[in-house]
Amino acid sequence: MTSKKINQQHLTFAIVFGLLGFAINSYPIPFFANVQLVLGNTFYVISAVLFGPWYALITATIAATGLLLAWDSPHVYVIFCLEALFLGYCRKRDIYSLYGSAIYWVFIGSPIFYLYSRVFFDIPSEHVPFTVLKQGINGLIYVSIASLLILFVPRLWNFEGKVQDKKRRQFSAQLTYFMTLMVTVSLLISAIVFNYFYLSRQQDLLQSKLESNASYIGSATENYLNNHKQVIDNAAKQFNLMQSSTEQRQQYLNTLHQSYPGFITMLIANQDAHVINASPSSRFLNIKGDIQQISIKDRDYFIEAFYNRKLFISSVFLGRGLGNEAIIAISAPLFDKGIPTGIIEGSLDLNHISKVEDIAKEAREQSIILLDEQNQIVYASDELGLKPITQFQYNQGNKFYRTSLDLLNIHDIESITPEYFYAKKQLNNGWTLYVVEEFSPLLKLAESQMLNSFIMLLVSLLFSYLISTKISRLLNGPLDLVANHFSKMDAKQLQSLQLDESFPREVYNLYQRLSASKQQLLSHQMALEGIVSKRTKELESANKKLKDLVDKDTLTGLYNRRYAENRFNDVLDFCLRSEQAITVAVLDLDFFKTINDSYGHLAGDECLRQVAKLLKTHFKRDTDIIARYGGEEFILILPISNALKIEQHLNTFRKAIEANEIVMHETGKRFNVTASIGAITANASYSKDLDDWIRIADNNLYQAKDVGRNKVIINIIDDTTLFDENSPIEEKEVKQKLEQPE
Ligand code: GH3
Ligand code: MG
Ligand code: MG
Repeated sequence: MTSKKINQQHLTFAIVFGLLGFAINSYPIPFFANVQLVLGNTFYVISAVLFGPWYALITATIAATGLLLAWDSPHVYVIFCLEALFLGYCRKRDIYSLYGSAIYWVFIGSPIFYLYSRVFFDIPSEHVPFTVLKQGINGLIYVSIASLLILFVPRLWNFEGKVQDKKRRQFSAQLTYFMTLMVTVSLLISAIVFNYFYLSRQQDLLQSKLESNASYIGSATENYLNNHKQVIDNAAKQFNLMQSSTEQRQQYLNTLHQSYPGFITMLIANQDAHVINASPSSRFLNIKGDIQQISIKDRDYFIEAFYNRKLFISSVFLGRGLGNEAIIAISAPLFDKGIPTGIIEGSLDLNHISKVEDIAKEAREQSIILLDEQNQIVYASDELGLKPITQFQYNQGNKFYRTSLDLLNIHDIESITPEYFYAKKQLNNGWTLYVVEEFSPLLKLAESQMLNSFIMLLVSLLFSYLISTKISRLLNGPLDLVANHFSKMDAKQLQSLQLDESFPREVYNLYQRLSASKQQLLSHQMALEGIVSKRTKELESANKKLKDLVDKDTLTGLYNRRYAENRFNDVLDFCLRSEQAITVAVLDLDFFKTINDSYGHLAGDECLRQVAKLLKTHFKRDTDIIARYGGEEFILILPISNALKIEQHLNTFRKAIEANEIVMHETGKRFNVTASIGAITANASYSKDLDDWIRIADNNLYQAKDVGRNKVIINIIDDTTLFDENSPIEEKEVKQKLEQPE
């Protein structure tokens, strides 16, 4: 974008897409635990596909800001902007965005996110792989959605000026991609829906199990307390009736205690709050074996029972005197004829509640916490490691983890990772019961569940890839074969090509029809070719005849005057370039009229033919032009002439004519003929006009006639180059010419 012009329309759309992405990303769709669906990123994928990397970067930056607000972590810029750029570049290289996204998350996105989360996030290490993987899955989801949108929203598909494929794609590649895309989308959606419902159901089951356990353990605890309350109440009534001695009371207390081992100790105190009986009695004796003087005047269980005259259950507290365990005291007033005489008390063994827990617990993974009305821990399962008679510290709820379960942190209260989910029950006596279960196994279950579905997804993708490749090969292979054969084969080969039954019927039919029409075409073509070549030959010979008619003289077969004049310019150009001389000679037979008169016209004609023949044998270089100039006159245009030797050559020729005897076969008459030749040799630059040359040659011819005929008169226009005997071309060629006629 830096070097190229910014497309205003693309820029506007990139920003609009970015804002849409921002809006959707600001509220990621919670799925389960910390898994959220990020669908706003769909828009930068669309930008990447339509407009290329730089516009996609703009869209991604805006859309990622939405995620920054939701997640409060700047890594979103790094990971998603890089993805947008990468997808844009993939698009420019004709790589489908789904493949591009897979490549990106495997090799770039996941490693970066892994490092980032190790350094900056407070995620337990065992959850990191899943957290990383889910980003990749998320990527596949929004890339698939974007690809489908582009495919099925015609306005996007036909977007003006969008990035175009550089190369035409193969059908097999297209088919494979669309199959893969459809499978990815359908499997992803079904995996997500399935997992969502499975996990919801799982959570509901767990919650209802916890709740039923809570109410069961709650009732059991209430029963436990009520039973022991009843025991103390009954014992008090019994003592009120008994009027017994200290020893009798002690015995009764011992028996009672043995029947209710839930009490850690039991005691009876008088109206002065002095303990007068205790069980086990060993606890009542000091080291010397004497009875201890213990006062319980300040104890709630004494005050409430003795002064307020009621059955009382205390909060949890640390025992004193008779033991120092955490206990709950249950006390009742004793009366003698309506006057309070003291109290009876039983200290409940809190550890004994574990028996209730054991009975109630079906699955060992659940733990309980029992709190009194002051939120002090009465009892907590061992594995929780909570101390009794301490305030219960906890943190409820977790905004980062989406689940229908109630979450509770009791050890690491500040952590974003939930420790437990729980069910809570309020007991009748104001106590609170929590039944808790660790959250991480559920998270692990969800993770393995999702991992499994995604492994299934990958396997299905692989299969769909293989199947679509196979399908496209089934269709493409025969089509390719037919197309290739058509371009290469002739009719015979086409007929002989056998298509086996692996070819689909449609392709086979297509092939049959194409083959029939190609054969028709070929036979038409052959017929046409025959006609055309015949016509061409006829035309060529007609042309040749025409050309001969135009250029040649019919009597002698030499070129005519027109031809000579036309060719003169070519010769002149050639000689000008190579600075050569030209000889123009005009030849006229002597007393030809007389020959005609004496031997007849036919003899004259024969004479002309013989002279022509001699001309052809004496001047046979390709560049020599010999033409019949008219009547019994001939013109010779001889380029590359050696001025010194040309006169000799012309004379040689003149003598050859003189020596040549013409025999008329019909009449048996014989005669000779002579010729006069006028010529000019000059450098090509002498004149461009042939008439100038002919004028001099003609003059010389007249002179030859004048001085008695059978003569050569030549004018050599004075120019030093004409006499340069060292010119190798001239020397050689003229020599050749001289030698040949002799
Ligand atoms: P000179 O030596 O002065 O040239 O005498 P000449 O008789 O050759 O005189 P001139 O050149 O005037 O005569 C040319 C004659 O050539 C005239 C014509 O009858 C004859 N002639 C021209 N064309 C042809 C031809 O095609 N065939 C025959 N047989 N004779 C021709
Ligand atoms: Mg003449
Ligand atoms: Mg003549």
